[in-house]
Amino acid sequence: MSSIEKMLAYNRQWSEQIRQENPGYLETIAADQQPEILWIGCSDSRVGPDQLIGLPMGSIFVHRNVANIFATNDLNCLAVLEYAVDELKVPNIVVCGHYGCGGIKAALEHSGVQPVDLWLDQVRFVRNRYSAELDQLPIAERANRLAERNVESQVYNICRNTIIREAWKRGQEVNVIGVIYDIHDGLLKQLGLEFRSQQDWERHDRRTHPRPSHTTPHMLRVE
Ligand SMILES: [Zn+2]
Repeated sequence: MSSIEKMLAYNRQWSEQIRQENPGYLETIAADQQPEILWIGCSDSRVGPDQLIGLPMGSIFVHRNVANIFATNDLNCLAVLEYAVDELKVPNIVVCGHYGCGGIKAALEHSGVQPVDLWLDQVRFVRNRYSAELDQLPIAERANRLAERNVESQVYNICRNTIIREAWKRGQEVNVIGVIYDIHDGLLKQLGLEFRSQQDWERHDRRTHPRPSHTTPHMLRVE
């Protein structure tokens, strides 16, 4: 049986089973979606959120790409964030990276002009920002530390975005957190990042990016 045949056979069996065990369930969730989480993760086949966090259908609004990037110049990322926050009122945003990420390794090892190389330039910005820390590490540890720093940076990109700032300003509940996943033990680790309000975020931003009073205002700062 080919992979596609297996997929379709499994689906028929699943559909029959769920309708027998829980009649009306699929009709109920067909009417509306009220997800609890916007999940921004890597496309890697081993880190899908459904198995990792075990929430029922309809709980997770998902965006995945190579190296779990929230790119502020990417219409796809922005559209997902806007729809999740402004329309679905999703109360939690989770950026999930993972150790052993091929995209992170590629960003460390080479650059080029292929689409994936250009996409990974966003991880190279992160690498350059933390080069003093990363260069001190043994090569084997460098990619995993960059994976952590990349999650942090994508959380920061989200918190700086107007969509989130406006939501916080109008009092909407939006918690932004960063986690990383280790395929070796299947465990998610929170990276000490959790922002529930503009005040939360600004306190952290001032602490981690102190600015001399005479230099560029926040909105014009380039990092
Ligand atoms: Zn990955």
